[in-house]
Amino acid sequence: MNATDKPFLPFALPEIGEEEIAEVVDTLRSGWVTTGPKARRFEEAFAAYLGDAGLHCVAVNSATAGLHLALEALGLGPGDEVITTTHTFTATAEVVRYLGADVVLVDIDPATLNLDPAAVEAAITPRTKALIPVHYAGLAADMSALTAIARRHGLKIVEDAAHALPTTSGGRLVGTLDSDATVFSFYANKTITTGEGGMLVTRNEALAKRARVMRLHGIDRDAFDRFTAQRPSWHYEIVAPGFKYNLTDIAAALGLHQLKRADAFQQRREALAARYDAALAGLPVILPPRAPAGERHAWHLYVLRLHDDAPIGRDALIERLYAAGIGCSVHYIPLHLHPYWRERYDLRPERFPHSQHAFETLLSLPLYTRMCEADVDRVVAALHEALGA
Ligand SMILES: *Cc1c(COP(=O)(O)O)cnc(C)c1O
Repeated sequence: MNATDKPFLPFALPEIGEEEIAEVVDTLRSGWVTTGPKARRFEEAFAAYLGDAGLHCVAVNSATAGLHLALEALGLGPGDEVITTTHTFTATAEVVRYLGADVVLVDIDPATLNLDPAAVEAAITPRTKALIPVHYAGLAADMSALTAIARRHGLKIVEDAAHALPTTSGGRLVGTLDSDATVFSFYANKTITTGEGGMLVTRNEALAKRARVMRLHGIDRDAFDRFTAQRPSWHYEIVAPGFKYNLTDIAAALGLHQLKRADAFQQRREALAARYDAALAGLPVILPPRAPAGERHAWHLYVLRLHDDAPIGRDALIERLYAAGIGCSVHYIPLHLHPYWRERYDLRPERFPHSQHAFETLLSLPLYTRMCEADVDRVVAALHEALGA
């Protein structure tokens, strides 16, 4: 299929350096490969990175696990409703169903592709318990509006920050806002990676404690005070049917060094995004929305939308790029189009016109730190060839 003599340019690639490799090898040699001192150090380093002394960081083996733990700790259950965006990955919503609660999907703001606060407000019922904003592509959702709505209606907020390290909102890093919990992902293609992993961040000490217990089988270690109690250290108590969501030290070893590079990675992504912006401005496309002045966009994704009068459609464009040896993706096939969500809640595309239209016209271009300027220029050239006059 690759009609060029150039090597295939993948849609995403992690950047793993010698420090990460050495730290993983050190972990393997240490004899302690599962959750231990490095997972603890990673939690401490993450709190220090966010720079807010009041935060508790709970390392988990995926963002999905972190979202599940946060909602579980908030007491969500059958009969409750949680409002989130249809324009997301299924993990954002599936965790609500794990707890037997119901998902209420709403449309996005077409300018930002983030949750539309007016649509959220219109979807609130007496059963609504929580909101899950997603900071799509790394651009913060309108957190001041969403927080005001949550306060007015007594709702919890759990941020899906899988794309949002480091993103700011109101000059503050996502993770330090006024939500009940924020969950980051360290999946292979995210802005920093541990292969698989995530971090639940909260100011609520009781929520953090419950998440720590439920992350490992419902084992309550504090129930046994190992310093003053008379019992030997093999003792523990199960206080709930918990989960197996702990982050291994092998993964945390990667995270310790990825985190140190998070700001440099963000700057690199931002520079590559700016290069795309400058070179694509003349084409029949809508460029990704920029962060407001003074705010930081994590640039997890570079999402381009085609104008309705573009000479070819989105699907054909992806085929053309693939033929030129360039990988792309689509974020997302909205939840309302997937059989499970569609059938469970009897959803129709007409209810989500902005997400539906965005889905039909968008594609995500390669954007990652290991790309060089020539890689961006190659994608740009292929786009000009396919879309130019
Ligand atoms: C990647 C992603 C998740 C899930 O993250 P995992 O760490 O793979 O569980 C959740 N929500 C969004 C928006 C994501 O992009």
